[in-house]
Amino acid sequence: MSDLKTNLKRAEKYLARFAQNGVLNHINGQAVPADDGETFTTISPVDLQPLAEVAHGKASDIDKAAQAAAAAFKGWSETDPKDRAAILHRIADGIEARAEEIAFTECMDTGQALRFMSKAAIRSAVNFRFFADKAVEARDGKSLYAPNQLNVTSRKPIGPVGIITPWNTPFMLSTWKIAPAIACGCTVVHKPAEFSPLTARLLIEIAEEAGLPPGVWNLVNGMGEDAGKALTEHPAIKAIGFVGEGATGSHIMRQASATLKRFHFELGGKNPVIVFPDADLERAADAAVFMIYSLNGERCTSSSRLLVHESIYDDFTAKVAKKAKNITVGHPLDPNTTVGPLIHPVHEDKVNSYINLATEEGATIAAGGFKPDGLGKGCYIAPTLFTNATNDMRIAREEIFGPVLTAIPFTDEAHALDMANDTEYGLTGYIWTSDVTRALRFSDALEAGMIWVNSENTRHLPAPFGGAKASGIGRDGGDWSFDFYMETKNIAFAMSDHKIPKLGG
Ligand code: NAD
Repeated sequence: MSDLKTNLKRAEKYLARFAQNGVLNHINGQAVPADDGETFTTISPVDLQPLAEVAHGKASDIDKAAQAAAAAFKGWSETDPKDRAAILHRIADGIEARAEEIAFTECMDTGQALRFMSKAAIRSAVNFRFFADKAVEARDGKSLYAPNQLNVTSRKPIGPVGIITPWNTPFMLSTWKIAPAIACGCTVVHKPAEFSPLTARLLIEIAEEAGLPPGVWNLVNGMGEDAGKALTEHPAIKAIGFVGEGATGSHIMRQASATLKRFHFELGGKNPVIVFPDADLERAADAAVFMIYSLNGERCTSSSRLLVHESIYDDFTAKVAKKAKNITVGHPLDPNTTVGPLIHPVHEDKVNSYINLATEEGATIAAGGFKPDGLGKGCYIAPTLFTNATNDMRIAREEIFGPVLTAIPFTDEAHALDMANDTEYGLTGYIWTSDVTRALRFSDALEAGMIWVNSENTRHLPAPFGGAKASGIGRDGGDWSFDFYMETKNIAFAMSDHKIPKLGG
């Protein structure tokens, strides 16, 4: 990877178009400003300088986009799945060809470090290829036999859908939601997060250059309370795929209730990593550190609660603190950077408020807890570890969504399980032990949608992704994605002249 100076020059080139032309919406194949001409400014978390003026879409823009998606639905859903698959593969080619531009733009817009964003761009292409290959089987169903009756199921795309994404890794998450929707024949209106809108624009350009017909995918930027709300209320939109906070999910449910939409929610987490003394402790520490400090800790699946057996608690947390202190915080385009600036000063304030709270609640700050020197105005926070915490503290209960880890000792397996499950969330869990029976027992009782044993989070695309409890509703991944975007139909064929009840003679 090139050095920071070279990367900054390249980033300047990629960002110039946004600075000059702003970020437009995209409706029915056309790049358009907001109906009322309004824009909002998006800033870089690196130095708080403006990056671009962004079209501030509202209800009328959403209405046009939803109508375009509705008009395109018949043609797209009836397109031969092989042709849809070919377009999705060409979108993946386009992402690969522009991977550097995507990664550099994402780094400057979100503050995420290049070492992770370059992989995220490539992973996004993989998402498109995975669902491209599955497109041909999307409508397949089952044949269910009963005496004198054959039931045949099939699936049809549900219609135009709304996709609402958060700011943490916007490009990758958008591909993860949109690729299966268009693979199975749905059309899309996408509302990206207002804090990081740039790469959604690149993605839709790539899609249309790859041959995606106008109207199949539409983009409307704006705030949650206007553009987002209008999308969830629009009668033409049949389902909402949403990634974001639980409180927003509740709003969306209320807003969409009149039009009886289908929901898929991927929400927050306060995910436990449970370390037993018989684990490979070096690997466990590396994984815990990776899962909380990569992606600036702005990661729904982060291991934000570290539950460690009391016999190894001091040594283990000292090991984690040492690693945390060694992590390089810096400019996201510096190839040596692991932790970049948080997304926005508003979020930086939120994370800092938990650092202040930790001491008030009686925990110890064993690493970090400060803004590193020499990095200017950006939203930087050093990787932070709280020790001597208990599970009833707010730092152990609330999602902080930053490079901040709360470590809590446990006495035995039952105590660890009680604390692991004593949370409103249930997204992921990470268990570290060499006792296979305990791993089975513990993972069976742990309330989470996804659990990794002796591993950090590594995704297998055909596997289900999603949360239990307040962490989500529904599952993504493999066929689960198609199930959400499609309506299942059952057709029952009589196979004999069976007796039909005779009413009224
Ligand atoms: P957020 O809920 O504030 O915003 C997400 C999106 O919802 C944005 O596009 C926003 O404009 C929109 N929105 C806000 N109010 C709305 C409304 N009333 N109606 C419709 N749309 C509205 O979330 P965020 O701060 O952008 O992202 C961080 C959150 O996302 C964290 O809680 C994190 O855990 C979660 N997240 C979850 C996953 C997962 O897979 N479970 C992945 C990434 C992030």
